Order: sequence, then C-alpha cells, then structure tokens
Amino acid sequence: MQDTVSGLLLRGKTIGFVPTMGALHEGHLGLVKRARQENDTTVVSIFVNPLQFGPAEDFHRYPRDLVGDTEKLAKEAADILFMPDAPLMFPEGYLTRIEVGNISDKLCGFFRPGHFIGVATVVAKLFHIVKPLRAYFGQKDFQQAVIIGKMLRDLNMDVDAVICPTIREKDGLAISSRNAYLTQAERKASVVLYRSLKETADLLTSGIINIVNLKQMMHQKILQESAVSSIDYAGFYNPDTLEELSAIQSDVLLAVAARIGNTRLIDNILVNMRKER
Ligand code: AMP
Repeated sequence: MQDTVSGLLLRGKTIGFVPTMGALHEGHLGLVKRARQENDTTVVSIFVNPLQFGPAEDFHRYPRDLVGDTEKLAKEAADILFMPDAPLMFPEGYLTRIEVGNISDKLCGFFRPGHFIGVATVVAKLFHIVKPLRAYFGQKDFQQAVIIGKMLRDLNMDVDAVICPTIREKDGLAISSRNAYLTQAERKASVVLYRSLKETADLLTSGIINIVNLKQMMHQKILQESAVSSIDYAGFYNPDTLEELSAIQSDVLLAVAARIGNTRLIDNILVNMRKER
C-alpha cells in the first residue's frame, strides 16, 4: 500500500480516503461517492480494529461481508481497497497508542473505556500508510469526528477531515452495520432514537429551551419503547468540547446512545440556534 501511494503521489495524484470496518452500507458508500468527486484516487480501507473493542464487546461477531463489500466498492468505482489484517497493523511487540485527552472520556468514551484510543491510534496509522489529502467521516459518529479533528490539529497532520451527513433509512434510523443485529421487532422500535432526537430538536427550535425538561421528556420517550433496555446517554452537548450543556447556546449537539435489546446504537442531530431563529 505504501509503495502504491508513493507512486500515486509522485504522479501528483490527490488521494481521498474512507476508513471503515466493512459490512458496507449506504452510509459508507456516501463517503466513497464524495471522495470520488473530490480526489483523483479513492482509497477505502476495511479493518475491524481489535484495539477499539472492549473485552466484553462484539469484535468477534462484528458483521463481515467481504464479497458484498467488494461488489459495492466496484459499483461505486472506488480505486483501491486496502484490507490489512490485525497482525500486520499490530504485530507482536506493538506499543504505541494515541490518546486525545478529555474529549475521549466523554459520551461513548465514558461507556467504552479505551475505545477512542483504539480509534485514534488506528486512524493515525492508516493516515501514515495511505497519506490522503482528504479523509471522509460520517456525522453519525460525531465524537469520533471531533476526536480525529483534534488529533489532526494537535499532531500537525496534513489531512483534511471532511464530515458528511448521516445517511438514514426511510423511517429515520441512522444506517449502521450493527443494525444487522436487530430482530424485526427491535428494528421497528429502534426508530425511537431518531424520532426522540428530531422531536426534541423541533421543540428547541420552536423556542422551548428548558434543557432539564427537554432532557427528561427525551428520556421518557425513549424508555416508553419496551425494546429499549437502557440509555447510556441522551442529552445536550457542546459540539466542540462534548461537555453536557446546562443552558442552550448557539450550537447544540443532541446525542443519544441506547441499547435496543442487546444492540448498542448511537445517533445525533446538530442544531444551529442562530440559523433556526
Ligand atoms: P464504521 O465502518 O462503522 O467504522 O464507519 C466508517 C465510517 O462510515 C465512519 O466515518 C462512520 O461515521 C461512517 N458512517 C457509518 N454509518 C454512517 C451513516 N449512516 N451515515 C454517514 N456515515 C456513516
């Protein structure tokens, strides 16, 4: 991969990069489309990164679909599929970790200790290998995007991170590889996450700005759905620092993580109060 990249760069080609864990869906393919529009060469990586899964998490059963993925990427005319294996990325004796302090411990980081160290480390390694001009990430994983942006600035890495909107199913559910875990009944129930975010965002922009009440209503709405087994978090956050807000400010991140049955799903909406008023 590094030799191929050197050749491309020598010929003056720009590289757009889409890092993924595979089981590709319309969310990933949206990133590939955008990368294709903006760069000479589009590289997609598929790597289910062991470093970002906790010991009790779903690393081993994470969906894998190499045949389907290859077909989808061929259809999108992605140029290069990079699929390193774990021993190649993290050989025995591998020691280096990247920790983007503070913001990595909030929201999902609080419930998944070490997760974002795994993410930042693998993304930094992939960037060094692929040397993209631009890399494409989904807003669905908002915290991931914020952490990678911070890592890029802090480590003076010359990569432009492009954040693309969340692609949703017709009913509003954010598309995710993990949706494959849902039973039919859970799939139906899972739309409550987006609906509660959207309803809360609409109340907010209509002028109801009592955060305590809105948060309570959001929790109630989510828990009314019997398939929801628990909420990790659901509330209002500063989109830059990821701190929970105690009062509404101009930019508000509405974010949720909850378990539908045994499946942990996340979603978010960004509300710009200046634009809405
Ligand atoms: P993953 O394979 O889950 O690690 O995701 C790879 C990239 O695709 C990340 O940047 C995600 O944020 C992005 N992504 C996943 N689902 C969606 C979606 N529904 N809409 C937009 N981007 C997404």
